[in-house]
Amino acid sequence: MEKTPFVTLEQIREIAKTYPTPFHLYDEKGIRENAKRLKAAFAWNKGYKEYFAVKATPNPFILKILQEYGCGTDCSSMTELMMSDACGFTGHDIMFSSNDTPPEEFAFAAKLGAIINLDDITHIECLEKTLGYIPETISCRYNPGGIFKISNGIMDNPGDAKYGMTTEQIFEAFSTLKAKGAKHFGLHAFLASNTVTNDYYPMLAKVLFELAVRLQRETGAHIEFINLSGGIGIPYRPDQEPNDIAVIGEGVRKVYEEVLVPAGMGDVALYTELGRFMLGPYGCLVTQAIHEKHTHKEYIGVDACAVNLMRPAMYGAYHHITVLGKEHAPCDHKYDVTGSLCENNDKFAIDRMLPEISMGDYLVIHDTGAHGFSMGYNYNGKLRSAELLLKEDGTVEMIRRAETPKDYFATFDFCDILKKYSK
Ligand SMILES: *Cc1c(COP(=O)(O)O)cnc(C)c1O
Repeated sequence: MEKTPFVTLEQIREIAKTYPTPFHLYDEKGIRENAKRLKAAFAWNKGYKEYFAVKATPNPFILKILQEYGCGTDCSSMTELMMSDACGFTGHDIMFSSNDTPPEEFAFAAKLGAIINLDDITHIECLEKTLGYIPETISCRYNPGGIFKISNGIMDNPGDAKYGMTTEQIFEAFSTLKAKGAKHFGLHAFLASNTVTNDYYPMLAKVLFELAVRLQRETGAHIEFINLSGGIGIPYRPDQEPNDIAVIGEGVRKVYEEVLVPAGMGDVALYTELGRFMLGPYGCLVTQAIHEKHTHKEYIGVDACAVNLMRPAMYGAYHHITVLGKEHAPCDHKYDVTGSLCENNDKFAIDRMLPEISMGDYLVIHDTGAHGFSMGYNYNGKLRSAELLLKEDGTVEMIRRAETPKDYFATFDFCDILKKYSK
């Protein structure tokens, strides 16, 4: 499928008059329509709720939009909990799916009344010691180990993942938690990431539903919800077929009818913790070509760098690039598109066929709405960009300002050495 940006050159020229590049831009209309589709796909399940994975796009304006569609938040750190709290997510609207959890974060999650999803059996003791009690509602994360194969060849390797409890442990955990007063149980697993297939969720559901039936039978713990977690992917590459969330919802429903309903568990609520699927395609990084370099290769230097989008440098991830205004020009130039970090992996694209790029051209780097800005960092003293929201009426709202040197130097505000720049 051809990938087209959700903004035009004219719009970007207008936006750039107020907000200099680089910036992350989000598409409100796309976010809303997608959230509606997700909700509709699982409407058959009475207790269904999406807990948006805050780490994907930790921005209160984004969280507020998703809140309108009944979404809660999935947090894994103190500040994500704080952001959720400040945005008005309360009690069971918050899922705390953390690992290697600092005890004070358990305490804060419990104070907010969040649902705590335990990553490990040893966390039962840590939680009880920290809180002085075991919450009545509690969830456990499962890891079956081995290799998780999805029909069309996609697979992931849970046996190599640090998350979750083994089968044996999760039975023990449920029994222990029940004995310590837990009444309402949840089950969670995240077995494959960025799956671009409609089969992942139904296959994961089968694993979790069958386990849930055994757990309830053997431990007597009442399972109230099953959390299918994240992992539904997006087509970063133009040749990938996007997931159809309606087909996914229907696939999960079939497994629910086959496994849970006959076991008398037709009241189990389903939860999801999607991040990438919710936001990924509805954000892009807009950057301008500022240098061209002709040495052993052809380079285009842009004003964004890996601190604005780490995925290509970190995992060699593909992000499609459109040169605005040249959407229909032939891709007859081979470029490395680079940022300015003193790290040779600071390349948004390597040997990418693109239209001929002129200095000043605006490049849209696609699918940065999730795990984009949020993975940002300050290496080389680079500053994080602004985040902008393209609203449904075509106007633009700044939803996070760009960092300034003052922000960068703020952690030296206890001394005077940098006062020239920090104050
Ligand atoms: C990262 C994460 C998610 C979201 O993953 P996506 O791939 O963005 O859908 C959900 N749950 C947990 C526990 C996570 O760590």
